[in-house]
Amino acid sequence: MLFDTHAHLDEDAFSQDADEVIVRAVASGVTTMLAVATTVESSRATIALATRFPNVFASVGIHPNYAVQAKPGDWEAIEGLASSPKVIAIGETGLDRYWDHTPFDVQIDYFRRQIELAKRRDLPFIVHCREAEPDVVAVLRQMAGAGQLKGIMHSFCGRQATLDAALELGLHVSFAGMFTFKKNNELRELAKTIPLERLLVETDSPYLAPQPQRGKRNEPAFVRYTAECLAEVFGKTLDEMAAITTANALRLFGLSGEVS
Ligand SMILES: [Zn+2]
Repeated sequence: MLFDTHAHLDEDAFSQDADEVIVRAVASGVTTMLAVATTVESSRATIALATRFPNVFASVGIHPNYAVQAKPGDWEAIEGLASSPKVIAIGETGLDRYWDHTPFDVQIDYFRRQIELAKRRDLPFIVHCREAEPDVVAVLRQMAGAGQLKGIMHSFCGRQATLDAALELGLHVSFAGMFTFKKNNELRELAKTIPLERLLVETDSPYLAPQPQRGKRNEPAFVRYTAECLAEVFGKTLDEMAAITTANALRLFGLSGEVS
């Protein structure tokens, strides 16, 4: 039983066979998938998928690299879509200094808005962080105030200080295909410092498939390879790690009792 907490099922890579990809995932033990949105159109698409498949849930939000394209009314649309029945998260949001698509102050503005919306709806938010670790931590600290946050550091591949700050603020940490890459020993060492109850797994499909599928189009069925690698790091079996990460996701998304 696995939960893929991050899959871009609405993207072009899946336009021909999204249904088969979802069926294949369920058949291979991925009982739940979160279809993650990047724009308003994408938010509508993830909700449409979630409406058709009982195993698929949706996030709604605006990715930092697409915030520059947001039109008047887009933000209000996201706020409205956030109350759709199968929406269980806000994002993906965050900060990205690698791709210079959106002015940084605009990225910060959308990041803050999405954290606020997530708080209002009592949903977790999904954090994308690329070459912006101190900036992400600064926004998280500011938004947390004296309290804790409900969120996910998605496809985490950052430094120990960032990890420590995120954990201290209450966030969960999700690992994707990169976690399995041979060169990423340091990342696997750092994972050992994460409490078991904060761990999640994801594919970030269609991008960066895990070993041994590296180079192929990624899909939710492949989340087992990342879970397997994480299990090894913690000296657990795949079944044990699947149970741990799935229980964590169900608890975080408020789905305990709803999905079996
Ligand atoms: Zn993503």
